[in-house]
Amino acid sequence: MSEPVLVTRDLKRSFVQGDVTIEVLRGVDLEVAPGEIVALLGPSGSGKSTLLQAVGLLEGGFQGSIRLAGEEASRLDDEGRTRVRRELLGFVYQFHHLLPEFNAVENVVLPQLVKGTQPEAARQRARELLGTLGLSERLDHRPARLSGGEQQRVAVARALANKPPLILADEPTGNLDEHTADVVIAEFLRLVRGEGTAALVATHNERMAAKMDRVVRLHEGRLE
Ligand code: ADP
Ligand code: MG
Repeated sequence: MSEPVLVTRDLKRSFVQGDVTIEVLRGVDLEVAPGEIVALLGPSGSGKSTLLQAVGLLEGGFQGSIRLAGEEASRLDDEGRTRVRRELLGFVYQFHHLLPEFNAVENVVLPQLVKGTQPEAARQRARELLGTLGLSERLDHRPARLSGGEQQRVAVARALANKPPLILADEPTGNLDEHTADVVIAEFLRLVRGEGTAALVATHNERMAAKMDRVVRLHEGRLE
């Protein structure tokens, strides 16, 4: 069997506020296999975002082990973390975080240029991804001229642009109405499966979670 793309061991994260310490993650053990789509289910406040931020190396302050494609996060310096984020991870958030002054294609091209892809190849990849997501007619629209569902599709295309082995998605359809959320998540899953990318998708929606390959639940700081 090939090596997991993500392994966490006894991952702990707490926040100190005044005299109070909130233990959010109390020992999370998680493995995600290459190409596997895992739903991270839990009610609001259960620590889903905290877990994704730790795994995404967006903040330190955790204890325990995080290995991404075999690289131990705690052994990486700032530069190493930036490299791992760029080479191994794609992010989708609840709000799209697209660059407002750039159109849809440009938003998907930019991370590829940062990685060193040639501009024409990057544009080609962007057009393909956006086309697969039904946005062929919206390529030159800026985010403000896209609907919420379209904005999230662009954010999905951007996350996949560099073919990362693991996508981290934090309630990627949490800001959409129910029908649009269903359509966008179905397209997200189809595209991610087609690309063979693994994904860890935080959601509080049981029905949505059931569409993924496996469901893990955050309860009192651990997975069950
Ligand atoms: P979820 O994403 O499942 O809704 P979060 O990971 O955002 O949950 O939050 C889990 C808990 O951690 C909450 O009680 C939240 O208030 C607390 N928390 C998250 N981030 C911080 C922070 N930076 N400082 C203090 N407490 C935090
Ligand atoms: Mg959250």
